Amino acid sequence: MGKQRNWKREHQEMRQFRSEARQYLYQCKGEYLGKMMAFAFDGKQAVFEASGYIPGKNYQEYAREFATEAPWRSLIRKNLTRQFCDCAEAHVWFEIVARGKNPNNYIIGALNERGNFASPCQNCALWVDSTFKAVYRTTPAYEGRTKQVPGA
Ligand SMILES: [Zn+2]
Repeated sequence: MGKQRNWKREHQEMRQFRSEARQYLYQCKGEYLGKMMAFAFDGKQAVFEASGYIPGKNYQEYAREFATEAPWRSLIRKNLTRQFCDCAEAHVWFEIVARGKNPNNYIIGALNERGNFASPCQNCALWVDSTFKAVYRTTPAYEGRTKQVPGA
């Protein structure tokens, strides 16, 4: 017998995730707007990070600290202009692990520069589904920043 999926529960979790994300985005008053973002929620605690460099964030330090554990460590990038650890999803993973929590308990969603949910990029798509409990997707394809190189 295969693993039974509890669709009703999953649906409720996704609804809770969505409402938590909206509330969170509202509270932070768009501090990361203009960057790609990712939001994760385990039913209790939220983790919200952005892509690229953010003053006061230790992403580069985390990248070194978790280099041998990162879920993307042995994957080959699809997008060569960007490292795995540049993405908001990677930053969320760092933050969850640094807090001593398990990413597998978190639902994650990527947000575009306007703060709307979008699909993960080609690089993140290689590892997010197998790393987090679920990935919240609303668009069939990645919506990169308008400033990004086409196809990036
Ligand atoms: Zn990405």
